[in-house]
Amino acid sequence: MIDLHLHTTASDGRLTPAALVDRAVAAGLTTMAVTDHDTTASIDEVTQLADTHGIRVVPGIEITAVDEGRDVHMLAYFIEHHDAGLQAFLGAQRELRITRVREVAARLAAHGVAVDVEALLAKARAKPGTAIGRPWLARALVRAGHAVSVADAFDRWLGQGQPAFVPRIGPSPFDVLGTVHRVGGIVSFAHPYVTKKDALLAPLAAAGLDAIEVYHSDHPADVRERYHVMADTLGVAVSGGSDFHGTGETRATLGAVWLPPHEFAALEARRASISTTPSA
Ligand code: AMP
Ligand code: ZN
Ligand code: FE
Ligand code: FE
Repeated sequence: MIDLHLHTTASDGRLTPAALVDRAVAAGLTTMAVTDHDTTASIDEVTQLADTHGIRVVPGIEITAVDEGRDVHMLAYFIEHHDAGLQAFLGAQRELRITRVREVAARLAAHGVAVDVEALLAKARAKPGTAIGRPWLARALVRAGHAVSVADAFDRWLGQGQPAFVPRIGPSPFDVLGTVHRVGGIVSFAHPYVTKKDALLAPLAAAGLDAIEVYHSDHPADVRERYHVMADTLGVAVSGGSDFHGTGETRATLGAVWLPPHEFAALEARRASISTTPSA
């Protein structure tokens, strides 16, 4: 079973790399990719541990791009994740996350909802490469009794249009495409049904987009079918994974969504066609 969309504690997943690999073994994964938000910090540990169980690990990441003030998640695979240029880019992404999380916390405080954001930032700093995000604030809101669940915290405070929402600043989807191709990776447009930016798909495909994430926990069968047709029409490949963040965190469960092997083979073929110009 192939799952190319998984998160760990390096970003907003609940599981450490070791705990995630244990779950992957239990679920029967044969190939997996950790795709933490704007960090590659878990890749080496997951690769080492998974290897002892005969599970293949594809180096991956979920990069946050911005289009007209809205977040666009872009998955990258087969990246040369130790590349210095890529790491500088990701370091800048994480700095923007820190600034944004502080601004969100200030807005919460202005609404009389106190969250100790400096304690969260200290926790993130304790492990180099950790990418903080709104789920960290959501969990703090739940702990403090200001929300009943992470989803509730997003619905009432942190989501788009809610009182503590702060628009993101960041690179365009086209910039991210170029950044990933430079380090030999391929790019898949993550969960388009969640992102709701389908108008980007054709221009991105023309610019070299490699795939669309068709198989995803938030994509019902009819939606999957629709994006599969779109991928075929645009001449791009298809990717997929659970987007598992830990039990109870979101709707995603490990083992419920997987990528068919022939689709994975097509991704590998796309990868072979990328020519790299590493910066280090
Ligand atoms: P950020 O990276 O700070 O933009 O936070 C976005 C992340 O929060 C997403 O990648 C999801 O993992 C999570 N998220 C977004 N909306 C929700 C929601 N309604 N319920 C639970 N988690 C969410
Ligand atoms: Zn996430
Ligand atoms: Fe995402
Ligand atoms: Fe994700």
